[in-house]
Amino acid sequence: MRELICISCPQGCRLTAEISGDSWLITGNRCPRGEAYAKQELTDPRRVVTAVMPTDDPAHPFIAVRTDAPCPKAMIPGLLNKLYRTVVKTPVKNGDFVIKNIDNSEISVIVTENI
Ligand code: SF4
Repeated sequence: MRELICISCPQGCRLTAEISGDSWLITGNRCPRGEAYAKQELTDPRRVVTAVMPTDDPAHPFIAVRTDAPCPKAMIPGLLNKLYRTVVKTPVKNGDFVIKNIDNSEISVIVTENI
């Protein structure tokens, strides 16, 4: 048995996951998103990655970025290393791609502000 807290909305439902045959039985969720969250978390946990990257603009030496979709947790350390060592060329605007299709994952990194 595993216990989780659903982070899909501010309700924060306490979920319980038990193996039932060859699948997980999820209880404690107030809506279907909780079951989907728990199954994803138990089989392929993912997170949206946020970070700051260096820029080529001395007046704005760092810029906030995020992935445009949740990343598999195993990808996150390597992605952060890449983000910290890559210089963003300015000008850029909110939503511009910094890195597209990271390692053929169909996940990209976008900036979240204008410089
Ligand atoms: S199960 Fe539904 S209501 Fe509960 S935290 Fe998750 S999304 Fe919100």
